[in-house]
Amino acid sequence: MADRPTLTTTAGAPVSDNQNSRTAGERGPVLLDDYQLLEKLAHQNRERIPERVVHAKGWGAFGTLKITGDISKYTKAKALQPGTETPLLLRFSTVAGELGAADAERDVRGFALKFYTSEGNWDLVGNNTPVFFVRDPLKFPDFIHTQKRHPRTNMRSTTAMWDFWSLSPESLHQVTILMSDRGLPVAPMYMNGYGSHTYSFWNDAGERVWVKFHFKTQQGHKFYTNAEAETLIGKSRETYQEELFGGIERGEFPKWTVQVQIMTETQAEQTSYNPFDLTKVWPHGEFPPLEIGVMELNRNADNYFAEIEQAAFSPSNVVPGIGHSPDKMLQARVFSYADAHRYRLGTHYEALPVNQPKCPVHNYHKDGQMNFFGQKSGNVDAYYEPNSFSGAVEQPSAKEPPLKLSGDADRYNHRIGNDDYGQVTALFNLFDAGQRSRLFSNIAAAMDGVPGAIIERQLVHFQRVHPEYEAGVRAALKEAHGYEASTISQEEKGVAAE
Ligand code: NDP
Repeated sequence: MADRPTLTTTAGAPVSDNQNSRTAGERGPVLLDDYQLLEKLAHQNRERIPERVVHAKGWGAFGTLKITGDISKYTKAKALQPGTETPLLLRFSTVAGELGAADAERDVRGFALKFYTSEGNWDLVGNNTPVFFVRDPLKFPDFIHTQKRHPRTNMRSTTAMWDFWSLSPESLHQVTILMSDRGLPVAPMYMNGYGSHTYSFWNDAGERVWVKFHFKTQQGHKFYTNAEAETLIGKSRETYQEELFGGIERGEFPKWTVQVQIMTETQAEQTSYNPFDLTKVWPHGEFPPLEIGVMELNRNADNYFAEIEQAAFSPSNVVPGIGHSPDKMLQARVFSYADAHRYRLGTHYEALPVNQPKCPVHNYHKDGQMNFFGQKSGNVDAYYEPNSFSGAVEQPSAKEPPLKLSGDADRYNHRIGNDDYGQVTALFNLFDAGQRSRLFSNIAAAMDGVPGAIIERQLVHFQRVHPEYEAGVRAALKEAHGYEASTISQEEKGVAAE
């Protein structure tokens, strides 16, 4: 026993007995001065922190990004220069389920990356889909409410989901991907990741281009059908953790090919669609993906809570050479991710080891709860700025070139002049007969219990994508639920004119 460490209180004092509380007599009550008992109970009460409002259930691992291509003419970011290797953390997640949700559920998957670059942390917080359900952040909290529990029944509501989607046709692209095979991957390594938003690259000359990031799985796409997933969940709710954690423990390191699409500022003024609209992709035929590197996961966390649950990703974290874009959803996320972490983890969440940059950090933020790192300005007398005491100073070379934007401030109707159907048709045309059939039956299953008026409203959207889409879903609804076309009028359906 001599080589085992001594059990101590949190204050470091040795504990003499960790089996018996201190009581008044053998049969007596415990005494209030049994601090060890009090400390244990108090700690247990504080073991939980708020789970993420979205993306609560997650799986993650560490790895590297290696740059093999040359995009130095587009970006000065050191992590993206040829030959550079950067350590990273990748957390996957489902969107809607709570912390204890089953892994094999049909849902969009989060694909959140933190690159610990020599110039600070660069976070790319994307999904396994290239698009999203809404394009305006004003709609995001409402959308998420439809995915979470009904306030009275405390159950998830298919009616709320399809009511919102059918009244928000910009969701059709993402809904179609969600209901397709890619909406239920077998495990994190069998899916792509996408930065989803449009970001920007800028170079030493201050020239900017727009960019989209893609991470293509080298393991191939694998998916479950609904029936397979239902059987699986009956046996294990933790299949993603088993596959990802177990695979890495066995030395099977998953890899993704990293690609970017580049669009010039001039090209962005000429596309028929808004290139900053999160419900749209940039067609590969027009903007071919360039291969720039490979990403590998090769190390599990030693402590899930400390390193995965406390991992804090935020699109606000960019580094010189990488910038944001006019995407409205991105601006909202720049605010709300960091805000969520301050709420969940505390003011100094970026000082936690998993979030800590691997380069020096200097700033003049002061004090606050759980400030365990002291002065960060570089000199104890420099606790304000500007100062004459050799404290950290700004670096003008990190200045991003100006965004060339103009326009009157207004609440522009994002529906006007926006084609919510064309890119969905392009996707539908990629599906073979089997994929279409599974799409129809997945949608029919997800529509169980939805009122006819809402179903009919949504079917109009499917019809606008492709007549076979509507016909296929209608037939699947009949087969699954005996659903028959209702006699509800167009007016009652509330479908906006195309
Ligand atoms: P392409 O035919 O060049 O697009 C092919 C893209 O679609 C590839 O990234 C491919 O991903 C993906 N894809 C292929 N089959 C499926 C499928 N069954 N389910 C989901 N994605 C699939 O044409 P476009 O670039 O014009 O895109 C057509 C449609 O493809 C888009 O409207 C969009 O819905 C979807 N898509 C497009 C992407 C893009 O960035 N342009 C990215 C992902 C999807 P992979 O190579 O991994 O198989």
